[in-house]
Amino acid sequence: MSGSAPITLITGIGELVTNDPSVGDGSPLGLLREAALVLDGERVAWSGPAADAPAADVRVDLGGRAVVPGFVDSHTHLVFAGERSAEFAARMAGEPYTGGGIMTTVAATRAASTDELRSGAARCLAEMRWSGTTTIEAKSGYALTVDGERRLLEVSRESTPETTFLGAHVLPTEYAGDRDAYVALVCGDMLTACAPLARWIDVFCDRGAFSGEEARQVLRAGVAAGLLPRLHGNQLEHGPGAAVAAEFSAASVDHCTHLTAEDVAGLRDAGVVATLLPCADFSTRAPYADARSLLAAGVTVALATDCNPGTSYVTSMPLVIALAVREMRMTPAEALWSATAGGARALRRDDIGTLAVGASADFAVLEAPSHIHLAYRPGSRVVTSTWKSGVCVAG
Ligand SMILES: [Zn+2]
Repeated sequence: MSGSAPITLITGIGELVTNDPSVGDGSPLGLLREAALVLDGERVAWSGPAADAPAADVRVDLGGRAVVPGFVDSHTHLVFAGERSAEFAARMAGEPYTGGGIMTTVAATRAASTDELRSGAARCLAEMRWSGTTTIEAKSGYALTVDGERRLLEVSRESTPETTFLGAHVLPTEYAGDRDAYVALVCGDMLTACAPLARWIDVFCDRGAFSGEEARQVLRAGVAAGLLPRLHGNQLEHGPGAAVAAEFSAASVDHCTHLTAEDVAGLRDAGVVATLLPCADFSTRAPYADARSLLAAGVTVALATDCNPGTSYVTSMPLVIALAVREMRMTPAEALWSATAGGARALRRDDIGTLAVGASADFAVLEAPSHIHLAYRPGSRVVTSTWKSGVCVAG
């Protein structure tokens, strides 16, 4: 502990989840009771029993509340315009989801001013902060033109360094007769314009979107441009997405609603995180992904919102956790780990999703004595404040 940043002691923590298995109860959550946390500026400097805590410049007493690592929402489509409530109503009245509604958002996003995009993103991000999220990933994919995709990434970068180029989200209508030309554009001029603003390359590999071979072309081009691969796969039907993710040793394959045992083994062997998006399954009335078979096989599971105006207009990681527990049969501890440390794995980050010494001081304070309340009280305001890099950003 040194330097000019103030040393802050957060004490009176009834239950502290560190996700550091070397401390506390020995579980993956690294859980401590009657604990304290010491922050040195932006970083965690110490954790342990409150009675043993060192002196500090500033002291905050949480009065027995629980503290968990800030949520890492590793899959969002943060920047968009318009909304699709009519499509949702039609789906709830029995129409199936086909992926075609994405073009509705593309039209609205192309027509929006940059300030409109910026204020929409800021509104979603504020909701995320209030529900305990401290890191998000944000994708392009609602412009599908060279300048438009670049603009989405420019706006995304104002909110997060974890930006993803998703020019291969869906085939834009103006290329309906010439798929190859659009894939060539994504892999050519669009990638050249977008790569400097992105960390990740993504492709929607599914029915109605892009084939396995098209996904390979896009990922190969992205990797050659210095981006790291991840993809949307196996949402609408069983397809090649998970297998392509394994071939590329992608950081993550997201959705995973329709997987075979072979896919699951491939993900495990290639070290690909399976990111599950229960609010997308909920909002499209689709079957939930089989979290238990992924966990049983030893695949790392992450949970994220998939925040987007069509199929998961959700900013709340506590709601994601509640659905993962109730509908996907994850335990509250597994779901919390996947929403924090799992998301960090899906972004290949070891400085977030944990409150180990040296990690970024990103955490949520719960109006509850235990993390179990996140799943136990769905729809309630369980998160009472959110801290990012040692600063209270909501609450
Ligand atoms: Zn998505």
